[in-house]
Amino acid sequence: MNKLLIVGTVAFDAIETPFGQTDKILGGAATYISLSASQFGVKSGIVSVVGGDFPKEYLDKLNAKNISTEGIEVIEDGKTFFWKGVYHNDLNSRDTLITDLNVLADFNPVVPQEFKDADFLMLGNLHPAVQMAVINQIPVRPKLVALDTMNFWMDNTLDELMEVIAKIDVITINDEEARQLSGEYSLVKAAQKIHKMGPKFVVIKKGEHGALLFNNGDVFFAPALPLEEVFDPTGAGDTFAGGFIGHIAKSGDISFDNMKRAVISGSNLASFCVEKFGTERMENLSEDEIQKRLLQFKLLTQFDIELS
Ligand code: AMP
Repeated sequence: MNKLLIVGTVAFDAIETPFGQTDKILGGAATYISLSASQFGVKSGIVSVVGGDFPKEYLDKLNAKNISTEGIEVIEDGKTFFWKGVYHNDLNSRDTLITDLNVLADFNPVVPQEFKDADFLMLGNLHPAVQMAVINQIPVRPKLVALDTMNFWMDNTLDELMEVIAKIDVITINDEEARQLSGEYSLVKAAQKIHKMGPKFVVIKKGEHGALLFNNGDVFFAPALPLEEVFDPTGAGDTFAGGFIGHIAKSGDISFDNMKRAVISGSNLASFCVEKFGTERMENLSEDEIQKRLLQFKLLTQFDIELS
C-alpha cells in the first residue's frame, strides 16, 4: 500500500456565509486534505502543529478515518492556528478577516519515522519554510510531490515559496492565485509561466466553474458538478487536492491520463464538502455516494459528435 504524507494547517475556523455562521470549528488545509484522501484507503499521515487548546476528540476524528496524527505536534502552552473568513453572496469569493498563525509561527516540523519513506507527498497550505523542511527530511524523493498554497503566502513569503515551487511536480492553486503568481491574466499563459518555475503539472481551480489541468502543451478541463445548494465552500480547494493526490496514491500511476481521473476525483469530493458547514460532510460520506456522483460527472461531460 502506498504511503501518503500530508503537510498543512490543522486549525480552528470561524466561518460566515449568507446561510449562517460558526464559532471556532475544526478546519485547516491538512484536515480537509486528509479527510478527502482517506476515501482512497491509502496509508496517510499528517505533519502539523496545534496548541493545548485543540480538543483531543478532533484528533480522534482523524484517527477514526485511519489518518495518522503522530506527526501533529501539540504545544501545550500555545494556541492553535485560527482563520476567520466571510463569504460574499455569490459564494465564489471570500474575505479573510483573521489569520492568527499562533503555534504555526515558529513550527519546526518533524516527519515521523514511519513516513520518511512516503511514496507521495502533499504539501498543503502553510508556511513554505515548513513545506521545505519536510521535503528535506525525506531521504528518497517521493514518486510525486504536489503543492497547494494561497495568496497569503505569496504576499508574505514569496521568495521562500518560489524555492519550494522549484522542487515540486504538481501545483494546485485557484485562478486568482495563478494570476498573482504569474502576473498573467490569461490562465493559459499563467500555466506556461508557472511550468517554468518548476512544476510539470499545473492545476488551476476555478471554484464552481471547475478545474483545469495543464501539462506543457496538454490541457484537460473538469467541470464542477452543478449543485442545487452550496452551503459553505470552506475547504473545497483542499478537499479537491486531497481527492487528487488520494486517487494518484491509490493507483500509483502518475501519467497525464491518470491525472485527468484524479482531477475528476478531486472535483467529485469537493462537491460534497460544500454541502455542509466545515468538515461535517467529509466526516460522513459513503463510498456509495461517491460512486453515484462519479457517474453524474461522467454523464455531465459525455457527448457524441460527428467530426467531418
Ligand atoms: P480552502 O477553502 O480550500 O481554501 O481552505 C480553507 C482552509 O484553509 C481553512 O480550513 C483554513 O483553516 C485554512 N487556511 C486559511 N488560511 C490559511 C493560510 N494562510 N495558511 C494555511 N491554511 C490556511
